[in-house]
Amino acid sequence: MKQRAVLLMVLLLAMSAFVAAVRSARIPVGDQIHLFEGLTGPEKPSRVAAEVPTSWRGFEDGGTSRLAILLSDEDSAWLGLVHGLRSIGLPFLVTDDYERALQHRVVLVYPRISGRTLAPGALQSLAGFVHTGGTLVGVNVLGGGLEALFGFAEVAPRRDHTRVRFDLAQAVNAGFDDPREAEIRIAAERNAATGMGTHDYLAPVQAPLAVYEDGAAAIVERVFDSGGRACAFGFDLGLLLLKAHNRRLEGVSDDYANAYDPSADVPLRLLAALYRRGEPLAASLEPVPDAQRIALLVTHDVDYLRSIANSVRYAAYEREAGFAATYFIQAKYVRDWNDEIFLDETGARHLERLAALQMEIASHSVAHSAVFDTFALGSGDETYPDYRPFVKSRNRTYGGTILGELRVSRFLLAELGGMPVVSFRPGHLSNPRLLPQALAASDYRYSSSVTANVSLGHLPFRLNHSRDSRMESDVFEFPITVEDELGAPMLERLGDAVDLAKRIARHGGIYVLLIHPDTVEDKLSFERQLVEAVREFAWVGALQEFGAWWAARDAVTLDLRATPAGAVAEIVAPTPLEGLTLRLPPGLAPEADAATAVGDGRWVLGRVEGRVALPLRRTRD
Ligand SMILES: [Zn+2]
Repeated sequence: MKQRAVLLMVLLLAMSAFVAAVRSARIPVGDQIHLFEGLTGPEKPSRVAAEVPTSWRGFEDGGTSRLAILLSDEDSAWLGLVHGLRSIGLPFLVTDDYERALQHRVVLVYPRISGRTLAPGALQSLAGFVHTGGTLVGVNVLGGGLEALFGFAEVAPRRDHTRVRFDLAQAVNAGFDDPREAEIRIAAERNAATGMGTHDYLAPVQAPLAVYEDGAAAIVERVFDSGGRACAFGFDLGLLLLKAHNRRLEGVSDDYANAYDPSADVPLRLLAALYRRGEPLAASLEPVPDAQRIALLVTHDVDYLRSIANSVRYAAYEREAGFAATYFIQAKYVRDWNDEIFLDETGARHLERLAALQMEIASHSVAHSAVFDTFALGSGDETYPDYRPFVKSRNRTYGGTILGELRVSRFLLAELGGMPVVSFRPGHLSNPRLLPQALAASDYRYSSSVTANVSLGHLPFRLNHSRDSRMESDVFEFPITVEDELGAPMLERLGDAVDLAKRIARHGGIYVLLIHPDTVEDKLSFERQLVEAVREFAWVGALQEFGAWWAARDAVTLDLRATPAGAVAEIVAPTPLEGLTLRLPPGLAPEADAATAVGDGRWVLGRVEGRVALPLRRTRD
């Protein structure tokens, strides 16, 4: 018995010694790692914030010119709706008080109208509101006796709808004449997991604004003699936006990248059109500075031995052309299955050259692991040079953590480049669920970690904690529009890429270009020709620069108030910004020296800081 116990002990000891030996063999040492003399850090630990649900009460202030969202159930995807409205620049407030909502001229009831979620008095008042000229928009109108008001006989739940097709003969849909706008995707054809609960409105009395792929009514509207309108969405646009922002709709679009797909933008555009039609003081914020139609963000992923030297040739062109690009650089100080070390003394000199050319230095992780999305969060105390992740194969990486990848790369690149690093893109766009809070904990502000076609839209958006529905993050996402790895060589795709820019430009949005500088000639020629082709309608620059502007715009509030002379636009910009562009309602204009007219009711403001009152005069009666 005793002998057996000793034998077992010896066996256990031998096994643990073997495991330790294997482990230590995986920690890169010697010439497998590059040590920068005297560099250790970062000192400051990264601590991930606990989840504290975002309250809708943070969005309840504002004047009556805004779109009012009457929240009928706070356990819903309202955060997706709020972030979508911020992205498209529509002024709104959220309330659970129907009397307050009905002081506005356009009211969106979200996420449903039913006898159970709204009091009888509220339902009656909503009907009265329409009869006195108000615009009532309901999402999921399920009962409460309002079927006749919205102009349908019955409502039927469905889980299998995948597309929504807009009737272009109707005025509010007039702008949706691109095929990808006329018919949007809301779920994948063959993946039930992406599907969402929708409703058919049966026997509509007026031609529906939109139908599903089988012709069933998806959005119905009834117009009254009072001028009032009642419009019902049969699908949850807040949930569509939330899922799209949380990267839960991969495979819904026909494309992964390089295509126009505004499926999550179009419902917001329809809401904007309903708002403008129903609210005489409807104004909004344009998505790009100085009334430009697109923001072209030129980005490069430096994740290969030769790329870092080639980068300098791209940067030389970009500086000469008068703009900065973003270089997402892998902090490659470990030799592994992926590649040789390229962030060494030579790499550091190239990086200094990029910084001297005023390019943005950003992080493309340490390990560039394809399985980054499976990494543990980490301690937040990881430091260079002790943090040594090792990529063993495509599916195996040892010693990597999410926080280690973020904070150690950020530290090293900032030290070598002599500037703060605020933007991140993961290798292979491998995207852990905890990435948003890990980015915030490591002091990043901007992420470019998904494609626009996976996010189903062409606007930046605010990320959510754990890519979930409860808490918003301070980090913004700028999805990739065009990349250089899928499909034909880039130069052959130039025409398509320019066409895509023009399609996004019609409604305004971002265009994030990704070029790997692994080769120079053809790809640099593509970049040069694309920039030349779009420059007259594009803001061109780095993610950091646009991101700072976008974050400042995201915090701007806008209210219009009627005055005897016309109206006054009250703008509050907590962070100062330049080139903010307003879209004003027809018949109202600022004084000549207060803003620059650019047509279509759009006006570019100079520097805006704090609280600004902009008088608007009537231009016609
Ligand atoms: Zn990469």
